[in-house]
Amino acid sequence: MTAAIEIQGLHKSFGPLEVLRGIDFSISPGEVVCVIGPSGSGKSTLLRCANLLEQPTAGRVLVSGVDITDPDVDIDRVRRRIGMVYQQFNLFPHLNVLKNLTVAQRKVLKRGQAEADRVARENLARVGLADKERSFPAQLSGGQQQRVAIARALAMGPELMLFDEPTSALDPELVGDVLRVMRGLADDGMTMMVVTHEMGFARDVADRVVFMDGGVVVEEGAPEEVLGNPRQARTRSFLARVI
Ligand code: ADP
Ligand code: MG
Repeated sequence: MTAAIEIQGLHKSFGPLEVLRGIDFSISPGEVVCVIGPSGSGKSTLLRCANLLEQPTAGRVLVSGVDITDPDVDIDRVRRRIGMVYQQFNLFPHLNVLKNLTVAQRKVLKRGQAEADRVARENLARVGLADKERSFPAQLSGGQQQRVAIARALAMGPELMLFDEPTSALDPELVGDVLRVMRGLADDGMTMMVVTHEMGFARDVADRVVFMDGGVVVEEGAPEEVLGNPRQARTRSFLARVI
């Protein structure tokens, strides 16, 4: 089976700073992989390289078998297949919720207004916000804004979703709603790569947990192995600090 995404020998430097020092792993269609690790270990850079928001210094990224680091590949077409959700939501503040979900569908996918609206409403319902389409981002809680951001990514019909600490900016009482939506996506078979500090989510939802430190994958495996019985000292000391 072709991997949904395959990362091969990925290196990324910013000037003299080598942030990713040889990353190899792949995610199968329908698999949920949680990436954990200390601040500064390169998790966000890995996600950004995975959809070429950052250009890798070396290595390859294959999305459904297509090498997206090949200069001949139309990166905009590839990026459309990958949804990204950020810690800070990144909604368009001057547009209402419905418009937030339809702009890229119209511009990038060239969908007509009626279809874009229909897909938007379908995905707002999916994240439990069918009644908020006329609201502006500032009128919503952080958790609602993040669910809008998830719905906006879903409206593009991605085959892979990348999440970069989607609940880290939220008040604690709002985290659960967002995690529930993400769990629903996982149950529906979405392929997901989730950078998170939510160890409960990783334990319950991930098929695989990847622990990164210092720009390398130190350990990966089933959640009960990596979180419950880590083999590496670095994993153990990280978990002792966060759990
Ligand atoms: P994490 O998400 O695990 O906290 P990051 O991938 O954000 O780690 O950052 C890893 C390292 O790369 C940090 O030392 C950070 O300062 C550095 N870094 C990230 N992006 C840039 C950039 N655009 N320019 C220079 N250094 C960067
Ligand atoms: Mg980060």
